[in-house]
Amino acid sequence: MNFELLVATNNAHKLKEIRQILSPHHITVYGMKDLNIDIGEVEENGKTYYENALIKAKALQQVTKMPIIADDSGLEVLALDKKPGLRSARFAQECGGHMEAFKVLDKELEGKDRSARFMCDIVLVNVEDKPLLFEGIVLGRIGYEPDGTTGFGYDPIFICDELSKSYASLSEEEKNRVSHRGKALNKLLTYLKINGYAS
Ligand code: IMP
Repeated sequence: MNFELLVATNNAHKLKEIRQILSPHHITVYGMKDLNIDIGEVEENGKTYYENALIKAKALQQVTKMPIIADDSGLEVLALDKKPGLRSARFAQECGGHMEAFKVLDKELEGKDRSARFMCDIVLVNVEDKPLLFEGIVLGRIGYEPDGTTGFGYDPIFICDELSKSYASLSEEEKNRVSHRGKALNKLLTYLKINGYAS
């Protein structure tokens, strides 16, 4: 038995992380490009990670009946009222890149507590008659300097409490084990196993 799953992303790093976790369990993971699906820019105007993930999943439901997952994630700095949060991607864009975003955050954090967390909501649709939500939360802090070269986005500046290392200095296996997306994906995997879709 092989379970086929479409992921609502064109982010190659995310797809790789998702494949590393799900593929060993008889799950074939497709990105939109793999299936020549182009739904253009979907406006993520939800008020929560769940709403944004659902918007992406629903956009894909218009073009296929196959099982779909969509995720939405963000970095929340607690002393900055959970900024950049839902706007993590846009904030980096507006700053001119993730390293520039780090400089802005670093300045705003002068003299403040650097606690932060990474959030991830994954929505699964086209399996049950309602969307299912799997959530991952990781506690950590914003480093004083970017550290490490792996991964993407805010990885060099987020130090996760569990390993006391930046995401960007973890091996792929370590990041998948401790990250917000890894935790949400492992919950999804448990659901798929319990329901006979994965082994
Ligand atoms: P998305 O909307 O889930 O694609 O994620 C929003 C933004 O959060 C991304 O563009 C990145 O800036 C950031 N982000 C999400 N996941 C990660 C991660 O695993 N590492 C670093 N940055 C991330």
